Amino acid sequence: MKYEVLCRGDALSGELADRFHRLAGERGLIRSATEPDVVVSIGGDGTLLEAFHMFRPSLGRVAFVGIHTGHLGFFADWKADELEQLVACMADSKPDGETRIVRYPLVSVEIHLQSGDRIAHEALNEVTVRRREGTLVARVDLNEQLFEMFRGDGFCISSPIGSTAYNKSLGGAIIHPTLESIQITEMASINNRVFRTLGSPVILPKHHVCDIVPNPGQPLAITVDHLHFHRDDVVRIRCKVSDGKVSFIRYRPFPFWQRVREGFIQNGKEE
Ligand code: NAP
Ligand code: MN
Repeated sequence: MKYEVLCRGDALSGELADRFHRLAGERGLIRSATEPDVVVSIGGDGTLLEAFHMFRPSLGRVAFVGIHTGHLGFFADWKADELEQLVACMADSKPDGETRIVRYPLVSVEIHLQSGDRIAHEALNEVTVRRREGTLVARVDLNEQLFEMFRGDGFCISSPIGSTAYNKSLGGAIIHPTLESIQITEMASINNRVFRTLGSPVILPKHHVCDIVPNPGQPLAITVDHLHFHRDDVVRIRCKVSDGKVSFIRYRPFPFWQRVREGFIQNGKEE
């Protein structure tokens, strides 16, 4: 099995990465920066997001696994003191054993520019659209039909696995990742006698399309996970469930609702 490690820049994550390489070498795992089968992220969720975007061109063949060092680590199954156990699992894993690959849906975004060019991205967590200053004014079309006129701070379009991230702070629902869907949440929409939006999060199934059409000339700030873009020439932002998925490798079961409970409810004390 070929692997690569991506780590957050802190001392602990760096130390763990060095140890990982040493142990992995002893167990016959081969390091490959260009064609890994498994990418190990050591750090927080931000580190896993970086790993995802770095290996996005090879999502079809790469599986991710996370070790978390201190932060929330919603994506990470392994703690720092379990590093040896993870290396052993990777070295000993057989396709018919406990090992399971789970695949999660992604958000596909296509940014259409005045020039006619299109920029395509995929988000593991979410895409956000805001105006850099002032109120964003945009039309929202669902499946190419006018849905609403929006005035407010912006939008968050999240994947199911990203539903526990920014989406959650905006009052969106937590979506189980077996539901191939995207969720659109509003950021501070203006709602009064004059302006009206739906005001509730909307969940779209596969093959449905959401277009955000900003009034021309607005300076936009668009994010795709931790990546930021500033553009003044956007005519349409098209979001849908991506055709591709991200794979995580699970060497032991960690059901999604357990992950949510451990990430958000359990306070660390025995109950
Ligand atoms: P960050 O500021 O460290 O991320 C904010 C928090 O979100 C961190 O605690 C991070 O965990 C956690 N997180 C990331 N993905 C998650 C997921 N799928 N489920 C649950 N929690 C998750 O910045 P970052 O590490 O570069 O991550 C970028 C992400 O931050 C964005 O994709 C967005 O979802 C989120 N964000 C949230 C808000 C908000 O809630 N108001 C605002 C901006 C961005 P770690 O500590 O383990 O990294
Ligand atoms: Mn972070």
